[in-house]
Amino acid sequence: MTTADVIVVGAGPAGSAAALTAARAGKRVVLVERGPFPGSKNMYGGVIYGRVLDDLVPEWYREAPIQRWVTRRQTMIMTGTQALTVDYRTEAWGEEPYNGATAYRPDFDSWLADKAVDAGAELVCSTTVTGLLSEGGQVVGVRTDRPDGELTAPVVIAADGVNSFLAKEAGLYGEVDAANYTLGVKETIALPREVIDERFGVRGDHGVDIEIIGCTGDVPGGGFVYTNRDTIAVGLVLSLPSLAKGDVRPEKILADLKAHPAVAPLVEGGEVKEYSAHVIPEAGYDMMPEIVGNGILVTGDAAAMCLAAGIWLEGVNFAIGSGAAAGRAAAKAVDQGDASATGLSGYRSRLESSFVMQDHRRLREAPHLVMGDLAQKYLPAVACGVVEQVFQVDNPNPKPRLRKIVRSEMRRNGLRIRDAARDGWRALRTFG
Ligand SMILES: Cc1cc2nc3c(=O)[nH]c(=O)nc-3n(C[C@H](O)[C@H](O)[C@H](O)COP(=O)(O)OP(=O)(O)OC[C@H]3O[C@@H](n4cnc5c(N)ncnc54)[C@H](O)[C@@H]3O)c2cc1C
Repeated sequence: MTTADVIVVGAGPAGSAAALTAARAGKRVVLVERGPFPGSKNMYGGVIYGRVLDDLVPEWYREAPIQRWVTRRQTMIMTGTQALTVDYRTEAWGEEPYNGATAYRPDFDSWLADKAVDAGAELVCSTTVTGLLSEGGQVVGVRTDRPDGELTAPVVIAADGVNSFLAKEAGLYGEVDAANYTLGVKETIALPREVIDERFGVRGDHGVDIEIIGCTGDVPGGGFVYTNRDTIAVGLVLSLPSLAKGDVRPEKILADLKAHPAVAPLVEGGEVKEYSAHVIPEAGYDMMPEIVGNGILVTGDAAAMCLAAGIWLEGVNFAIGSGAAAGRAAAKAVDQGDASATGLSGYRSRLESSFVMQDHRRLREAPHLVMGDLAQKYLPAVACGVVEQVFQVDNPNPKPRLRKIVRSEMRRNGLRIRDAARDGWRALRTFG
């Protein structure tokens, strides 16, 4: 049996950030990862927002294994045959202090885990934590799948990702509702670097992030296209209950997205290198478990700290922010010799005063709005229909008034003014 001050389960961004801060605070930390190396089992769309690292790894942008800096962001609203794109680009995001970057998870997660190791944490890979060790209602360690693989410590940090068996075993989750989850699927498609530069209109290490609404047919969700150096990522986020009905497979929806006239020219001639799938805790704040227990803290996706709000799909930055807070709170509790829920409660207050809880609390309605009828069903059809009519020149007929076009498109698509106003107001309150 090995003993430590803090055991961190999962070497994703949350776990490595937790291990890093606890080790820097002088604690003996064991970071346990089931994969053969950090990131080997992790999957996401592809964009990391690294500002949160400023404090942990000064000048991280000089050494982090990034593919491209995102200098062009698009939001594409589409129907089966139309696409309306808001396209923004700025050179500022291609220079320090940067904004977002595409990166491969095996590279990025290994790099961050190495930082924890440099700080003194012990990384143990190819080891699955199979359960918690408890004494009198207090978590005191974990069991692993290794022979004699019990580890004890006053604090266990569950950074084991979206299905966190540890948080569930500790009784920190209430009822689990499938409607709170989506399935993310993604293809990584190889294309020569010059072809990507040409097609996406970027040069050097600049890249593009496209978020898509209206590309998932009858299944609520959304899509994305991101550029790496010599691959692109094309993927979808899909409502789990709708998929479970079994009417359509995710591969079919992804094939349809790739065949859409606005996407087909971007992926043409590419070779599919990889297909991956992963569950996302879509409902954010409304599905968060209790994050502090006796001897245990829950962080990152394990605590549903992932923001899936249409124009934003971010989780790595929330994982790092919450993981770092968990590591600091754990170290303090160890110093004070109190690893009860009260002794660990500094974790919650750290999060409450950080972007992690502030963003999640303010945007708690956003995932529901994004998956609702207005965004999924009506917005793409009405927006594309209005723009098509505005740009269509119909001589010898005179130009119609914009308000008449909007009304006729709403009527044609069955969207009532009352419903649009109600959801529009909710959206304004949430995002405004
Ligand atoms: C399709 C898709 C697209 C996404 N796009 C983006 C994006 O573009 N940008 C962004 O910021 N976020 C994105 N996300 C969200 C992001 O991936 C997550 O929010 C983030 O990975 C959470 O980090 P984490 O460390 O909490 O969990 P994870 O990254 O899931 O890491 C958990 C770790 O724990 C390990 N583990 C699990 N169980 C055990 C166990 N029992 N024993 C030992 N180890 C264990 C796993 O192997 C893994 O390494 C996306 C997610 C998906 C699915």
